[in-house]
Amino acid sequence: MHQPPIKAAPNVTSSAATAFNPKDAVFLFPEAYQAFAGSAHGDLSSSQREAMRALLGGKGAGLAEMTASGVSVPPGLTITTETCRAYYTGGSKLPDGLFEQVLVKLADVEVALDRRLGDVKKPLLLSVRSGAKFSMPGMMDTILNLGLNDTTVKALAKATDNPRFAWDSYRRFIQMYGNVVLDISKESFEHLLQELKNASGVRQDNELTATNLKELVRRYKELVLKETGTPFPSDTSKQLYGAVEAVFRSWNNPRAIYYRNLNKIDHNLGTAVTVQSMVFGNLDDQSATGVCFTRNPSTGEKTLYGEYLVRAQGEDVVAGIRTPKKIAEMAVELPSVHDELVATVARLEDHYGDMQDIEFTVESGKLYILQTRTGKRTAEAAVRVAVELSEEGILSRSAALMRVDPLQLNQLLLPSFHDEEKDAAKKAGRLLATGLNASPGAAIGEIVFDPNEAEKRGSAGEKVILVRVETCPDDIHGIVPAQGIITSRGGMTSHAAVVARGMGKPCVAGCESFRIDLDKELVQVAGQTLKKGDVISIDGSTGEIYVGAIATRQVGLSEQFQKLLAWADLERKLDVRANADTPQDARVARQFGAQGIGLCRTEHMFMSQDRLPVVQEMILATSLADRQTALNKLLPMQREDFAGLFTAMNGLPVTIRLLDPPLHEFLPKLEELVAEVATLKANAKNRAHQARFKVTKAREAKALAAQEGLLAKVHELHETNPMMGLRGCRLGLVYPEINVMQVRAIFEAAIAVKAQGVVVEPEIMIPLIGHVEELKAAREVLERVAREVMAEAGETVNYKFGTMIEIPRAALTAEEIAQYAEFFSFGTNDLTQMTFGYSRDDAEGKFLQHYLGGVEVNGEKRKILEDNPFAILDRKGVGKLMRMAVEDGRSQRPDIKLGICGEHGGDPSSIAFAHKLGLTYVSCSPYRVPVARLAAAQATIVEMAEKAGASTAQRDK
Ligand code: PEP
Ligand code: MG
Repeated sequence: MHQPPIKAAPNVTSSAATAFNPKDAVFLFPEAYQAFAGSAHGDLSSSQREAMRALLGGKGAGLAEMTASGVSVPPGLTITTETCRAYYTGGSKLPDGLFEQVLVKLADVEVALDRRLGDVKKPLLLSVRSGAKFSMPGMMDTILNLGLNDTTVKALAKATDNPRFAWDSYRRFIQMYGNVVLDISKESFEHLLQELKNASGVRQDNELTATNLKELVRRYKELVLKETGTPFPSDTSKQLYGAVEAVFRSWNNPRAIYYRNLNKIDHNLGTAVTVQSMVFGNLDDQSATGVCFTRNPSTGEKTLYGEYLVRAQGEDVVAGIRTPKKIAEMAVELPSVHDELVATVARLEDHYGDMQDIEFTVESGKLYILQTRTGKRTAEAAVRVAVELSEEGILSRSAALMRVDPLQLNQLLLPSFHDEEKDAAKKAGRLLATGLNASPGAAIGEIVFDPNEAEKRGSAGEKVILVRVETCPDDIHGIVPAQGIITSRGGMTSHAAVVARGMGKPCVAGCESFRIDLDKELVQVAGQTLKKGDVISIDGSTGEIYVGAIATRQVGLSEQFQKLLAWADLERKLDVRANADTPQDARVARQFGAQGIGLCRTEHMFMSQDRLPVVQEMILATSLADRQTALNKLLPMQREDFAGLFTAMNGLPVTIRLLDPPLHEFLPKLEELVAEVATLKANAKNRAHQARFKVTKAREAKALAAQEGLLAKVHELHETNPMMGLRGCRLGLVYPEINVMQVRAIFEAAIAVKAQGVVVEPEIMIPLIGHVEELKAAREVLERVAREVMAEAGETVNYKFGTMIEIPRAALTAEEIAQYAEFFSFGTNDLTQMTFGYSRDDAEGKFLQHYLGGVEVNGEKRKILEDNPFAILDRKGVGKLMRMAVEDGRSQRPDIKLGICGEHGGDPSSIAFAHKLGLTYVSCSPYRVPVARLAAAQATIVEMAEKAGASTAQRDK
């Protein structure tokens, strides 16, 4: 692999532009903070903190900041990233004067600890570590226990009263140093270790005695001599020189380069080197080592949470050989250290303003903090910690709101798998496949392929997972009672995904590796065959599918959760509405804080099994009279639906979209009909069949004629590209009686519930407009019907009329369109589909994964897209159209209401963009409403911070 050399020192500090000066290249921990903050304990601004990280790396900056906050950290020094750049520009050698400067600073460390590097009585041992501005875990090299040689090892054995430990440390040092600095393969050392274990008759490393380890050291040194031609360096300052150089070298090792390419980290940044004194938790009975969180990372409760071991080294706590004790026991065993620990971690939490995950060591009763970092936590803990830190005065409310990832909130509303159980399942090879994480939450159930069976068994209380190639409205009766849905085809805006999200039901969509045979009721996946009745677990948040059951948990709406959302409501400028088609969905949405319905897809109201045939009858009608008959049946159903929605949303706006069915979703499948007609034809000729099933020839002929008629009609309506076909406003313009029925139902329902005291605010929305004349015509019909119904009832209803912007031409001609629309709702699913020219039904299963994962370009993998545009709004293209429509729409009608109701309405980054555009509201599925409330608040906070930053910059000019 080619190794990009560091070309020139980037201008990170003022000194970078001038010649390298070793005096500016090495910082003791307390000095570093002072250099950046201006004083020893002053606060760092975020740009100062950034500059410190750039020059000292994340690790060096962290240690400096901890030291400055008054915490006891094993003393040490950091060599700057600038030195690394000078190392490379100077021909891969340490700059002149650098090492001398390291030794000068090290002398301070030696004084502080009363130990010296290489001292035969009180030897100082060091760790030498890399640390770049951005974390590159495990990519570069580390050396521990530096400073050991044949004499100092004895001093260490004596000081620790533990010769085994001393010799083990020594052999580890030679092994690490031999590999990293002297370039001897790890395997050569491992081989010698294994040989010794075999000869000693032991299986584990920890069973080797001090004598064994002493022998191992001898053999290791022999190996070094053989491989390098020179003895292992016993001169401790030579050891240090080699280690520092090796860490700089490791910046450009192949795995570090690979990692930086992958994570788009600049190759010119360079790494810092941190040289730190080692402390020993296994020195005596007053020594210990442990890890702790400042709060419980599972629940967020404010208690010190963690484990420790007396007379142990860091790795003993995690190695599982000895059972660590709970931190609470330390209060009895090492009371004064415990008190100091409690006070120290509180200070660290206060300093960083967040829950910390801390590693500590106690050496002879003295506490040292080795590392502190932001603690990983569950969603439940994230909410509680943020709220409580704010209530304790450590964080402002807006900072608390920024601490919670909005998407994490979903975990609190929906069941999720126990992390440990899921990890165990993964380790046991039970992960079958990963598809698209189309609708979050966890579900367990028996595989069922047939929606009828799912309905029967699901309604009887059995837990089933519906597995389909794709779903359509025909399947809805099986989707409702299922625990979760899997499809092998379709994307984030496929039918299954949209419907499942609306219901808060887990769904994994587009899982192409699921080879589904619906006839045999089998799935082939990962070399296994699963059949109907097999139990699987699906994680809709990650797209993973496991064989067997995994335990779930659900947290629910805690007091802190409600509080956080109430704070969010005070901040946000965007309203949050829900996409809901039933009174039940509307009630859920309202409970989660929705401020109205932003999209009711009326075609979803016809998805139950008793209604679907009427819709099909309406679509397939060959005459106006036939269609009117079907519409007359639909009218009372619709009236009832709308009355339910209005009542559930009493006092809030309800946007009702007139019918927008891509027809193929509602028609019988062409291939299935062809097969059915062929079977009926064959049966009609088969006397034996008629005799066996006791059907008359005449009856069979009638059935055949009916299906043939249906087939002819389906053929006639068949479209090669139904998504761009007879759908949206086109349907209501070609068959105006459909719009007439829907508008009548809306106004009749509104008048009826108004009489019962419900406050109604209907907003009628026309889908898929591309030309102003479409909207104008639809509006004229609507207004006539509205007038008629209101006149019949002698009552008026205030309503709004608007349109969706989901075709690029609509966005481009928004000024014209706004003449006839009081509101625009961006249908970003279709707008994305039509702007990119990617089919929302097929793209994700076909080429989009390649675009996202990387395609081959001259032997290299290259991503074409960073994000799935159906999940995260494409600001450059789709967003540009939206911006244009917003500006042109407003110039025509300054008080125009603007919203977004595509799936992006529930995605935090797209919500941030909606905020930037100055939209009135976002609308998303009911379970996303809390996510959107928080994301909208974060968008406001970020904007305010940006404005404050800009005005400060202005003032400072
Ligand atoms: C859209 O296109 O974004 C939209 C909301 O409409 P649908 O998904 O029903 O086409
Ligand atoms: Mg649409």
